[in-house]
Order: sequence, then C-alpha cells, then structure tokens
Amino acid sequence: EQKVVLITGCSSGIGLRIAVLLARDEQKRYHVIATMRDLKKKDRLVEAAGDTYGKTLTLLSLDVCSDDSVRQCIDNVKDRHIDILINNAGVGLLGPVESISMNDMKKVFETNFFGTVRMIKEVMPDMKKRRAGHIIVMSSVMGLQGVVFNDVYTASKFAIEGFCESMAVQLLKFNVKLSLIEPGPVHTEFETKMMEEVAKMEYPGADADTVRYFKDVYIPSSIDIFEALGQTPDDIAKCTKKVIESSRPRFRNLTNSLYTPIVAMKYADETGGLSVHTFYNLLFNFGSLMHITMSILKCLTCSCLRRRTISPD
Ligand code: NAD
Repeated sequence: EQKVVLITGCSSGIGLRIAVLLARDEQKRYHVIATMRDLKKKDRLVEAAGDTYGKTLTLLSLDVCSDDSVRQCIDNVKDRHIDILINNAGVGLLGPVESISMNDMKKVFETNFFGTVRMIKEVMPDMKKRRAGHIIVMSSVMGLQGVVFNDVYTASKFAIEGFCESMAVQLLKFNVKLSLIEPGPVHTEFETKMMEEVAKMEYPGADADTVRYFKDVYIPSSIDIFEALGQTPDDIAKCTKKVIESSRPRFRNLTNSLYTPIVAMKYADETGGLSVHTFYNLLFNFGSLMHITMSILKCLTCSCLRRRTISPD
C-alpha cells in the first residue's frame, strides 16, 4: 500500500528534490503531496517530476504561516490521512543583529519554528489515533551549534530542536516516529546569491567594525565553506529517504560527516569555551578560515561520530 507523504516548501531546493525522489520511487511506494505557498511557482517541480506528476505526485497550496491555509490543505487530503509529514519550509536570515528589525526576526520564527509547530499540531492527532506515522523536521547543524551572524536563524532551529526533543518522548508512546535531519551547508541556488547581495547592502544601526567583520571576514569565508563542503539538495533528499525507509529511524540525522566535529566540540567541553574560542580563532585569528576549518575538521572527525552521520549513498 502506498504511503501518503506531505512535504512543505516544494517550489525549490531540498523540498523539491525530496518530492521528486519519493515520487519517482521505482516500487511506487509513495503518494507525494507536494505543497508550496504559491502554486504559480510549480513549474520547476512539475518539470522535474516528469510523468510522475498527476500520478504519484500531486500539488496543493500551503503556507505554513497561516492557520487557515494549513487546515484547508490537510482537509483536502483524503481522510486527512498522512503517513509521513516532512516539514521542510524554512527561511534564512544573515547579518548583524543591530541592523535587523524585530519584525524580520519574528518572521523567521513564524516560518521555521511556528510554521513547523502549526503543521505538527494539525497532523499529529490523527497519527496518534492511528498509532502510526512519521514526522520529519528539516533542522540544520545550526540547530545544534550557533554560527556567527546567523544568530536569529540559528535560534529558530534551536527552538525547533527543543520542541522536537520534547515531543519525541510523548510520540514514542503512540508509536509515532519523529526524526530531525541536520544538514550542513547545502547548495541551493539562493545561497550564494543571498550572500553576494548581503555583501553589497548597507547595515544601518551596526558600527563600521561589525559591518566589516560581517562583509569582509564572514561572507568570503562562508562562501568558501559552501563551495568546499556543500552538499546538494539531492544528497539531502537521499538522506531523508533513508531515514523514512529505516525500520528504526534515528531521532538525529546529521548529513555531512565533515561537520560532526563542530557538534563534538560542544559535547567535549560542557563549559562552552571550546566552541566559542574555536569559532573566534577561525574567524578572527587566521587568514583562511576554510583552510584551517578543513584541517581541524579532519583531525577531529572520529569514527564514533562518523557513525552518527547518515550518508546519501
Ligand atoms: P529554499 O529557499 O530553496 O527552500 C525553502 C522553501 O520553503 C522555499 O521553496 C520557500 O518558498 C518555502 N517557504 C518559505 N516560507 C514558506 C511558508 N510560509 N510556507 C510554505 N513554504 C515556505 O532553501 P532550502 O535550502 O531548500 O531550505 C529547505 C530547508 O532546509 C529549510 O528549512 C532550511 O532551513 C533547511 N536547511 C538549509 C540549508 C542550506 O544550506 N541551504 C542547510 C541546513 C538546513
């Protein structure tokens, strides 16, 4: 029997690739309901879905920030029956905090945190009743470790991690599974574009030194890291499919083994000093952040952490 999979944020990036990968499953095990805020943006997905469109893949509109939209969408699903809910929709936010309006910060939480909570709240009661279901949440390594100039985005992913850690215990009692996917950098076309635009912008409210650290130190290093270590949205889709198909899915699923040492530092030193000082030294005390990061990552990556990572292959 086909499993009904509902995915949020499918007009681009990771969501689009997950939708296509599952819809193209050779054994046709999935009926994918690919959702997006604005169905006018469906062309890329429809093209990538090919002849699965209208068969194993259907479209519905859904804005994770709207109660009405979420309810209407789920009401349009046959018997409101969803076997697998994939919370993928999310937005980024970069820059010095002084120059970001409170409103823009709240928007990030509205999507990344409350959007996911809203979806889970709507879908979970039926899963609990059926004593079956799997909820996937697209978190990030930034849900485990803060990253400079990503302060608010990171906080939104920490928030959803805390929510899920708490929910997972209750859901276990109802045989409903909950898994976090924690990618490192992923090449979605918007990432370099966003960083290039960000580097050109003015940052009123932030002092000259802060703006300089952001534009001239953080942005170039970040672009280097994306280029050197970035995974593709398809890699993340494959990892997600593995998690869905696992007989005993893990709660946490890092997708990039080069990033596991960053998480390890946090657990290796409970005072937090190691993480803060390592990041400080990487950013301010060395010429090439990328070069140093690579060597630290390589020497810190130990086999026990590799085992914690799920690989796309
Ligand atoms: P993306 O911008 O291509 O995809 C995000 C999607 O969410 C877009 O299609 C966007 O339209 C949609 N979206 C935004 N607000 C929405 C709303 N209110 N309702 C419905 N959909 C909405 O970027 P992506 O990299 O594919 O991001 C997907 C997820 O992966 C996000 O949760 C992101 O935080 C996470 N992630 C991304 C990276 C990365 O480096 N790109 C790394 C780790 C985690």
